[in-house]
Amino acid sequence: MSYPEGLERDFPLARLTTVRAGGSGDMFARAGTEEQLLELLAFAEDEQAQVGVVGSGSNLLISDDGFRGLVLKLDRDLATIERDGDRVLCGGGARLPSAAAKSAGWGLSGLEFGVNIPGSVGGAVRMNANAYGGELARTLEWVDICTGAGRDRRVPADLGFSYRRSNLREGEIVSAASFALSPAVPEDVKATLAGMRSKRREAQPSGIKTFGSTFKNPDDPRAEGRSAGVLLDAAGCRGLTVGGARFSPKHANFVENMGAATTADILELMSQGRRRVFEMCGVVLEPEVQVLGEVEWPAGWELG
Ligand SMILES: Cc1cc2nc3c(=O)[nH]c(=O)nc-3n(C[C@H](O)[C@H](O)[C@H](O)COP(=O)(O)OP(=O)(O)OC[C@H]3O[C@@H](n4cnc5c(N)ncnc54)[C@H](O)[C@@H]3O)c2cc1C
Repeated sequence: MSYPEGLERDFPLARLTTVRAGGSGDMFARAGTEEQLLELLAFAEDEQAQVGVVGSGSNLLISDDGFRGLVLKLDRDLATIERDGDRVLCGGGARLPSAAAKSAGWGLSGLEFGVNIPGSVGGAVRMNANAYGGELARTLEWVDICTGAGRDRRVPADLGFSYRRSNLREGEIVSAASFALSPAVPEDVKATLAGMRSKRREAQPSGIKTFGSTFKNPDDPRAEGRSAGVLLDAAGCRGLTVGGARFSPKHANFVENMGAATTADILELMSQGRRRVFEMCGVVLEPEVQVLGEVEWPAGWELG
């Protein structure tokens, strides 16, 4: 099989992520149409290459050694946001805050929760993203999933959603999604978005290189209802620094790349934070951030 058009070799991946760390992908390509995406996936299958997909890179940590395989990013036709009556159809690469804002302008309610989630629609489905109680599955009607074998359409009941996870596997790429929304007064929806934006500005640091929440909120009675951020703070992690990475002084569950952090710095910081919380109250924090490529977790990562 010949190499697909636009395929790039040894592509630096850090710039595709919000935390700006990590190495290069052996192969990288942008897919602008479903046809192109299917071709690239078939190529990867033929080459027996692993496939990784990057959305907005807002919950992603790339190995310092990069990724041995093909990394894909969806754009053009696969990043559109269109209205169809009370539905909003999005490409998998569409930005969720743009989908929320456009829907508000169209007088459609149900995607407001996405206004502060700096991810793509595909990444949001994969991660079952959520904020302020707005559930993705409540308005999601269907998603198209592309793999090396072709395209199939799935409904939320097929996606195994639970807290910050779905059952999507490596190589299963969300190329499109349909949201069934409710008619509303545009000014009311816009006012809700404005309220959510200002609430967020107060609670979270802005303008930093981060992947948002590092650890999931624990479902463990020993946490006594405290979030991962509250536990990390109580364990003295606010501002804790390893190399170029630190836990944000404003939000202890946010890791900040202060300039030249490596993924190894970030993993070591995560490991130290996790250990401190465990030693404080016995709770084992699990990462929310997704890792692309092979990483070696620090020796202190395993607890117990
Ligand atoms: C400042 C900040 C605030 C945040 N706030 C929230 C919040 O309130 N709520 C919340 O839930 N999250 C939040 N996040 C985390 C993040 O924005 C979400 O998890 C988001 O859904 C990730 O989407 P993405 O496109 O950036 O995915 P990426 O980070 O690019 O990837 C995450 C995972 O999804 C996979 N993926 C990406 N695109 C696709 C696709 N098309 N098909 C299949 N798999 C795909 C990737 O391979 C990877 O495994 C925040 C992050 C930041 C930086």
